[in-house]
Amino acid sequence: MTHNQSISYDLLINGEWRPAKTGKYFSVENPFNGEIIAQMADADESDVAEAVKSAESAFNNGPWTSMPNSERSKILWRIADIVEDRSMELGRLESISNGRPISETSSQMSVVASYFRYFAGFCDKIQGSTVPTDSSHFNYTIRVPLGVVGQLTPWNHPMMIASKKVAPALAAGCTIVLKPSEWAPLSPTELGNIALEAGLPKGVLNIVNGLGPIAGKSLAADPRLGKLELTGGTETGKAVAQIAGTNLTPLQFELGGKAPVIVFDDVNLDDAVNGCAFASFIASGQTCIQGSRAVVHTSIYDKFVSLLSEKVSAIKLGDPTNPETQMGPVVSKQAYDRILGFIENASSDGAKIAHGGKHPQGTLLKDGYFIEPTVLSGVRQNMPIAQEEVFGPVVCVIPFDTEEEAVSIANDIPYGLGCSIWTSNVSRAHRVAQKIVAGIIWINDHHRLHPAIPWGGFKDSGYGREGSYDFIHEYTAPKYVCVRVEPEGFDWYANPGPGQRLN
Ligand code: NAD
Repeated sequence: MTHNQSISYDLLINGEWRPAKTGKYFSVENPFNGEIIAQMADADESDVAEAVKSAESAFNNGPWTSMPNSERSKILWRIADIVEDRSMELGRLESISNGRPISETSSQMSVVASYFRYFAGFCDKIQGSTVPTDSSHFNYTIRVPLGVVGQLTPWNHPMMIASKKVAPALAAGCTIVLKPSEWAPLSPTELGNIALEAGLPKGVLNIVNGLGPIAGKSLAADPRLGKLELTGGTETGKAVAQIAGTNLTPLQFELGGKAPVIVFDDVNLDDAVNGCAFASFIASGQTCIQGSRAVVHTSIYDKFVSLLSEKVSAIKLGDPTNPETQMGPVVSKQAYDRILGFIENASSDGAKIAHGGKHPQGTLLKDGYFIEPTVLSGVRQNMPIAQEEVFGPVVCVIPFDTEEEAVSIANDIPYGLGCSIWTSNVSRAHRVAQKIVAGIIWINDHHRLHPAIPWGGFKDSGYGREGSYDFIHEYTAPKYVCVRVEPEGFDWYANPGPGQRLN
């Protein structure tokens, strides 16, 4: 293991980069070769408290909430422009820390920019309403920002998920303490430099890196937050909900998933196989809406398994920074061991490995946490691999006979995030879409994302939504103002007895 410590970040608090109070740093490893590629200041409770104080002061006293709305909008646009200009460099920062190929990470920067641009448009469009009651009073609402928003984000889409949260919070006039994942903190931390360059006033975006159970927990526990958002695992969501619940902090959670890819027998098979490979193996399968279960009609089952295996056998594994690479390693040794453990147990439970299932051959791949794209057949619904989030390059192919059975298999999991339905029958597509318990449904597609769509899930996949016109209101609350306009005064105590107007 070599030590290349040329990348190093401190904590961004009140517009300044400063070390953690303890002076400690934690290391970030490149999952492709085990090299230590960066040192990050390691925040503890007192650093997080300082960051929240800075965000609170920027909210109460800074120029952010009082500047013209159009000025806020310009800053968000400038952030988008800088992200787009630096997309290759930012993509590289992600690829060397989470192992995703640069073709994916750099392309995703255009999505990051699109979130800032979409929400920039809301800065001067957040408005209240007048409320008709009776002629004695004039009533109106104004929408006020919630204050300091705490944001806990994951490593699989480091910059994109940070911007799904940062952009609307800024547009609404909130201030932020962002705690990126310790596994891939580089690009979301660089967002701090980008925001400062774009003219974001100091203290509006504070970034504290550190470990989930220390820095993350301290942020979740801070009573000064107006809102706390988490994208992460379901178990983390449950832990965070308990901590934040003691302060009644409003929460929004994007958690785990186990998306089905339902393939009916009337499809163009090549199209469905391509779609399933895309659904299952982008990001080495490490996405919340990964197509981890292909639910395939019995009449095309064998052919589907064989075509899918053939398709994924051609996926090019390699150095994530090489533009030709199509699949990188999984994020960590811990993830690597867990995923291989799932495959081993499924195999002992009777599943058949149609393709993959182990570390790939090749000198280039030997030091990285690589796992071959894996296709499992003969999986039964009650196996852990069919129920739990594996978060790796593994797809279980499960047969069904009837539409009802397909829906029942699809819904028979603790999660309810994504689902894709592959069919050429329009009525069936919409009928099944209505019956699936998931927040996001694609028909003959998968993974599509746009800032204008509401993103989120049911059941153990979390609550609340990200993106869309409606979501901006999740960062503000209505404040109701009631003005007495009738000329006569009101004296409740002048005429005692029932029958008068009370409220
Ligand atoms: P994770 O839950 O381990 O970590 C997410 C964030 O929470 C990190 O910043 C982490 O440091 C912090 N954290 C961890 N433990 C904490 C604690 N006890 N208290 C406070 N903060 C804590 O998740 P991950 O491994 O980074 O990401 C993978 C998970 O995220 C998967 O389950 C995936 O499905 C989910 N995810 C969901 C979506 C979605 O949109 N629903 C998107 C991406 C990822």
